[in-house]
Amino acid sequence: MTNISNKIITATPKAVIFARVSSREQEQGQSIDAQLENLHKYCERKHIPILKEYKITESSTRGERKKFNEMLKFVKSQRNKIYIVADCVDRIQRSFKESIQLDELMQEDKIELHFVRECLTLSKDSETNDITRWDFSVMAAKTYVGNLRDNVKRSMKYNLEHGRFQHYAPLGYQNIRDANGQADVVLDPVRAPMVKVLFEKYATGNYSLRSLATLAKEMGLMARRKHNQCICKNAVRTMLTNPFYYGVMKIKKKYYTHKHPRLIDKALFDRVQDVLHGRDKSPTKMSYREREFATRDIIKCSCGCAITPEYHRKPSGKEYVYLKCSHFHKECQQQGLNENIILDQFKTEIFEKLYIPENMRNALKQEVRKQLEKDDVFNAGTKKSIELRLANLKDSKNRVLDLYIHGKIAEEVYEMKNSEIDIEEAELNDMMTKYQETDANLNKMSESIVELAGNGLKIFESSKPDEKNQLLKILVSNCVLDNKKARISLQKPFDLLLKTPSCPIWSK
Ligand SMILES: [Zn+2]
Repeated sequence: MTNISNKIITATPKAVIFARVSSREQEQGQSIDAQLENLHKYCERKHIPILKEYKITESSTRGERKKFNEMLKFVKSQRNKIYIVADCVDRIQRSFKESIQLDELMQEDKIELHFVRECLTLSKDSETNDITRWDFSVMAAKTYVGNLRDNVKRSMKYNLEHGRFQHYAPLGYQNIRDANGQADVVLDPVRAPMVKVLFEKYATGNYSLRSLATLAKEMGLMARRKHNQCICKNAVRTMLTNPFYYGVMKIKKKYYTHKHPRLIDKALFDRVQDVLHGRDKSPTKMSYREREFATRDIIKCSCGCAITPEYHRKPSGKEYVYLKCSHFHKECQQQGLNENIILDQFKTEIFEKLYIPENMRNALKQEVRKQLEKDDVFNAGTKKSIELRLANLKDSKNRVLDLYIHGKIAEEVYEMKNSEIDIEEAELNDMMTKYQETDANLNKMSESIVELAGNGLKIFESSKPDEKNQLLKILVSNCVLDNKKARISLQKPFDLLLKTPSCPIWSK
């Protein structure tokens, strides 16, 4: 940008020149320098001094409108009339929105528009004829952009109908270019077999998503996008629910059969969905995640590992829950035991002793409600930020499309970006659903806690494993298993409510 002179010497209008070439045009041999040279010659011929020049090329990747607005701001800041000189209308404008801005300045007699190639000069006093020519040129520019957009959409639709997947390929597949330079999706020789194993393992019902993620890590299955990162639980879920693996691609909520290689058959996929949704309720086939344990995530081993509950079967056929150290530290000597031993301990050490005097119940109710509300506020904040991010993603999508249409990014990059956005969008939507579920649970929980204040033992004894688990999570802050005995400490304020001689509230 050349700033020749900011001082106003005479009242003669000065020129601001505006040049633009897209990378597509540059490929076709149109250079920005040639355009500039023409504009300079024009000004020379007309004896118009040049005040400033704006040029936009491929390298300025972000927003031509930004430059346009910058120019308008500059023009408005000038005391004298400015001639805006451009090669033709579509160098400056892409829509009628800009016409309105320019027309306003024109009516105030602050600017005159000079479109050199079109031999069109527009001012306050322009005749209808010229204004109409201007409108037509804007219309043409608009149509041009629209056509490009349509072309992109049409080619995507064509590919879709021919079963070509045009996005970032799922884990276990690769995006490649075939001999004709066409984009294609093929099996990833390293990852595909591992992905298949994960499907098979999960279908047995013996794995949770977390343990499947651990298995993936052990096998050395790495994410493709983030270099050398293991795949997380969420990625495992995304993988297990993607019908692509058995031959169907989901694009914008619609399903299409694809022509790429299949990694698994539909029967296996369906089995995995059943396990995921807990539809297969026979105890032996129930997934670990689906099975309910009173002590899940409650007890730690004295060695520091988690104590995990699992179902065992006695010779009589009766099932019971067996607790054992997960033994990540191999030297741990902790022996396993029946869950009932620990549950009895919970009964005598917590529920038989927990007593909340009448006058304290209300205070506790309020406390619990406050706590839950606090979580709710936190949730609301998180939800807001998810919503915001979703809106941003929508913008990014449009921006990426614009960049592609204007030839600033390659098709491959466009597709990749677009499907990255799709994936993040899907993940965020999932999260949103989860938060909404949490909201519904809050009310139920607050009721049960308040009820607990009166008759904890009864509630504990009569509740199902998952309800016991919820209660314990509310009450127990720490529980360490050491030689078949649990050392229990309680959450505040419950720690103060045990009937012990030393309890300060009790003695009051
Ligand atoms: Zn241990």
